[in-house]
Amino acid sequence: MQTVSRHAGSCPSCAAESLALAQTQRMVASLGRKPAPADLHFVESRVSQEAKRTPWYEVLALEWQNAMQRIS
Ligand SMILES: [Zn+2]
Repeated sequence: MQTVSRHAGSCPSCAAESLALAQTQRMVASLGRKPAPADLHFVESRVSQEAKRTPWYEVLALEWQNAMQRIS
């Protein structure tokens, strides 16, 4: 696990994949229990703010998570 996260730190494609996987697991786990959060606009503005100092793969994961919240 340490090796994986260390490698992901220097490999954007692996970082993006592990992030997306974690997001997917979290989304699936939360889908059955609670409704989608109502503060989507807060999340959206946060994403555009963080895009200025966030690696592209994290922005991608955040935007993908937003899309999932909209269709769920
Ligand atoms: Zn890699």
